[in-house]
Amino acid sequence: MQKVRIRRDDEVVVSVGRDKGERGKVIRVQAEEGRVLVSKVNMIKRHTRATQSNAGGIIEKEAPVSISNVQFYCSNCDQGVRLGMKLLEDGAKVRHCRKCGEVVDN
Ligand SMILES: [Zn+2]
Repeated sequence: MQKVRIRRDDEVVVSVGRDKGERGKVIRVQAEEGRVLVSKVNMIKRHTRATQSNAGGIIEKEAPVSISNVQFYCSNCDQGVRLGMKLLEDGAKVRHCRKCGEVVDN
């Protein structure tokens, strides 16, 4: 199994399914479930009942998607890519795009 290198605040692209090609920011990584919550991706509608503070109606919210269905978005490549790890001279481990080699961590 591929190691999960997606982190919160990463920009990712959906690579399969209904939202294929959609891009969004990772809101939360649920590593144990192998799922991620991505902003504006896999939106589901939920009906809420009217309360005193809330008019009720339909709200849209994100549902988690399988981590294997998203890829890290590399702005340099302008597409979803796979990430690798590399060791810098100062000993820091950073993620990099396996396509163009761009380091994506600061
Ligand atoms: Zn790249």
